[in-house]
Amino acid sequence: MDLSYIINHLGEERDQYFNAVSPPIIQSSNFASKTVADMRHTLQNEFEEPFYTRGYNPTVGILRKKLAALEGAEDALVTSSGSAACAIAVMGNLKAGDHAICVNKPYSWTNKLFNNILAGYGVETTMIDGTDPENFARAIKPNTKLIFLESPNSLTFELQDLEAVAAIAKKHNIVTVIDNSYCTPLYQQPIKMGIDITVHSATKYLNGHSDVVAGVLCGSKEMINRLFASELMTYGSIISPNDAWLMIRGLRTLPLRLERSNETTTKVVEYLENHPKVKQLYFPFSKSFPQYELAKKQMQGCGGLFSIVLNVENMEQVETFCNSLQRFLMACSWGGHESLIFPSCSLLTSQCYNHPYIKWNMIRFYVGLEDAEVLIADLEDAFAKI
Ligand SMILES: *Cc1c(COP(=O)(O)O)cnc(C)c1O
Repeated sequence: MDLSYIINHLGEERDQYFNAVSPPIIQSSNFASKTVADMRHTLQNEFEEPFYTRGYNPTVGILRKKLAALEGAEDALVTSSGSAACAIAVMGNLKAGDHAICVNKPYSWTNKLFNNILAGYGVETTMIDGTDPENFARAIKPNTKLIFLESPNSLTFELQDLEAVAAIAKKHNIVTVIDNSYCTPLYQQPIKMGIDITVHSATKYLNGHSDVVAGVLCGSKEMINRLFASELMTYGSIISPNDAWLMIRGLRTLPLRLERSNETTTKVVEYLENHPKVKQLYFPFSKSFPQYELAKKQMQGCGGLFSIVLNVENMEQVETFCNSLQRFLMACSWGGHESLIFPSCSLLTSQCYNHPYIKWNMIRFYVGLEDAEVLIADLEDAFAKI
């Protein structure tokens, strides 16, 4: 199925709604049955037919079809946040007495899930350096049931060799989950490489307009049906029909937005790489990136996120630099139209500059849809102040 068809037509049954080009927002919690027999039938197919919006909603259904197809998966669940998608994928595949493996430095709330919440339910987790596939093989125990990947991660961008890890996991019957938010399905297709479940923060590129928090989880029909009937329906962490509609609209321009963000990022990265005030730059498609070859092998493109370490003496200079930027907003999240910075020092108080892995002089950048020249000029002005 081609990308243009998925984004513009898949799932849209226009003859059912006046041939409207844009689908309706079916803002209804429940759906009536004509007969008891109909109701009985619908209750057996709660994931496929309108009965109650926690299970199926027609507007969400359109989005679900598109997201599964984009990811090359049999089916998908759309959730109220990326964090909910991670939790459903993980909780639904582990029980007390099981062991899980997770890569170092995952997204903060993924870390919380493995190291605080699951620990409380009797699941043990080993955190590993995922840059060497052998580390996965070494960490496997007889009760290992799940491996969680994030490639690249969203701060320093360490990658995992997805084909190699999937092969190791398959040998031991271990379920693999990847957070694929950074690449989106356009730039990385983990399911084709043998990974079982992909999760996304759809808040980021997939929606792309900084106006919806949502998530998606893709996998086999069997896996998705099982997670639907237990975790999704129990936690109830569903997307609203209105947010699903906004996401369908966001998806229409996904390829355009990604291409633009990617192009501009390449220019901004080039500028920063040669700047004397930049000590280090982390970006998977930069030639100096330690895993450049692997990035080129398994990713078709690179998103607009990268990090730099400033070549400065003190925190005040970092703060001056950040406060001076006018065209980069200072905020969390990423993947929208607007360029952003997230300074690591915002996580540190003056009492503890020397955190084990949060560098005080590191700044994460996200490049949105502005002109490269405008962003570079803004950086130039901020550098001049330090
Ligand atoms: C933002 C983010 C999440 C969490 O997604 P929410 O939609 O904010 O719940 C998970 N993983 C990564 C890599 C993210 O950037």
